[in-house]
Amino acid sequence: MSRRFTGDKLVLATHNAGKVREIRALLEPFGVEVISAGDLGFDEPEETEDTFAGNARIKAHYAAQKSGLPALSDDSGIMVDALDGAPGVYTADWAETPNGRDFVMAMTKVWTLLEEKHAPEPRRASFNATLCLAWPDGHDEIFEGRVFGRVVWPMRGENGFGFDPVFLPDGKTETFGEMDPAEKHEMSHRAVAFAKFVEGCFG
Ligand code: IMP
Repeated sequence: MSRRFTGDKLVLATHNAGKVREIRALLEPFGVEVISAGDLGFDEPEETEDTFAGNARIKAHYAAQKSGLPALSDDSGIMVDALDGAPGVYTADWAETPNGRDFVMAMTKVWTLLEEKHAPEPRRASFNATLCLAWPDGHDEIFEGRVFGRVVWPMRGENGFGFDPVFLPDGKTETFGEMDPAEKHEMSHRAVAFAKFVEGCFG
């Protein structure tokens, strides 16, 4: 049984504008005021774990301790089967450049590696999102969501963020980058994890 969320304010322990936008939209029906760690001027803790849950815990506890409020983090990434699950927890790292994150570069790297390996089609992949809600007293709850599909090339669509333009979810004809954001919110890895979070902490 998960601990319930009873407050009216939540810190979103992320600086990623795409995640803030999506989680804000998902939390809207619950009347919870969402403040992002970026708005509070918090820095980002180093993600030193090699699991989504481990890194989600680092981010949520850091923001909960600094703010004195419950904090929700998301650690996520894309896992490509033919690359043994890479980039996985290192998805954001693959986009790192001296001038910020470049996801076109990161998506091109994934595609190039798949081509070099002559990976057969379909190039199976999944998105994972792990949410952690941490309280200032040190308690936390973890919720995981996964969505399966494949990597397509070239990139398709201007919506979403990160690896959305190359991810075609199973049963769909549009990539996450082409889909209407509302449709992505209904079926994404984050939405699946979020539904578990709502059931556990608001249900
Ligand atoms: P982190 O969780 O901050 O380590 O970063 C995860 C990275 O995974 C993001 O920067 C995105 O590139 C990618 N990612 C996670 N969720 C999504 C999504 O819904 N669409 C596209 N890319 C995503």
